[in-house]
Amino acid sequence: MRYYNIPIFIPHEGCPHDCSFCNQRKITGVTTTVKPHQVHSMIEKHLSFLPDCKRHIEVAFFGGSFTGLPLKKQENFYRVAGEFRGEIDGIRLSTRPDYINAEVLSLAKAWGVTTIELGAQSAFDRVLVQNLRGHTFQDTKEAAALIQDYGIGLGLQMMTGLPGSNREWDIKTAELLAELKPDCVRVYPTLVLNGTAMEQQYRAGEYSPQTLEEAVETAKRVLTVFRNREIPVIRLGLHAGEELREEGNIVAGPFHPAFGELVENRIWRDRIEEEIKKTISFPKEISIQVPFGEVSKAVGQKRCNLTYFQEKYGVSVKIESR
Ligand code: SF4
Repeated sequence: MRYYNIPIFIPHEGCPHDCSFCNQRKITGVTTTVKPHQVHSMIEKHLSFLPDCKRHIEVAFFGGSFTGLPLKKQENFYRVAGEFRGEIDGIRLSTRPDYINAEVLSLAKAWGVTTIELGAQSAFDRVLVQNLRGHTFQDTKEAAALIQDYGIGLGLQMMTGLPGSNREWDIKTAELLAELKPDCVRVYPTLVLNGTAMEQQYRAGEYSPQTLEEAVETAKRVLTVFRNREIPVIRLGLHAGEELREEGNIVAGPFHPAFGELVENRIWRDRIEEEIKKTISFPKEISIQVPFGEVSKAVGQKRCNLTYFQEKYGVSVKIESR
């Protein structure tokens, strides 16, 4: 079974906030309002590109705070997605924790919404306030419970390296989010985007984003928290769309087009390092067997893990598939 999302970006609509890190127009690359009739042709176009295999397709309303739209407008979008019943398997959307209530959930349930993703970002109110989120962690907990009461899948999104946070708090956030038993999680290291309040803080020297190395290390530990609880992490790092990567859009921060891959590499590096350390005297060569499909992760991007072991321990590591 292959899983596909048909992303429909609704930039900033339904959201009167201006979170310190957010420039939705930059993230989504869309600056104009999306109308329901446009959504119809977007879905149609996407469907025509998808391979004809065993597949699970969801229409995903991302980019703004969907449930902050007037109910009528939400329904109009649902109706368009509903026209593809039989071809798509569900609808998912992203929103803010404080925009969840019985009314929006009844509507979502009636139109077959399968998953709602909440931008939780941090479990620490001090961090939420500092980043102008306008909601508390209590709002996240209540919204998560209500979504689950309605039998709708729960997704949670968190950020690492936010102003006011630190690695310990990011890991704690992951632990507290895991307690809410989400069906999936997305983890985003904070980037300083052009035109945001964060950019001003950064330029004033009031905020230093994580280095790529720090972000990888933190994300590794956050990922481990969720994996230990068997909670799927479906995204690590912002999607590197063309618009996001346009010159000047990312002012600073640990951006890498394959951030998730770097984190997986690091997990393997740690595992192999443990094996090497167990040996009494470092051998010149060591062979490590890893599951089929994990070889490239264990080798690392541009063979970075192999270089690391060679330089640090003088050990030549050979990775073989099990
Ligand atoms: S709530 Fe979401 S869309 Fe609104 S400003 Fe914050 S991050 Fe951007």
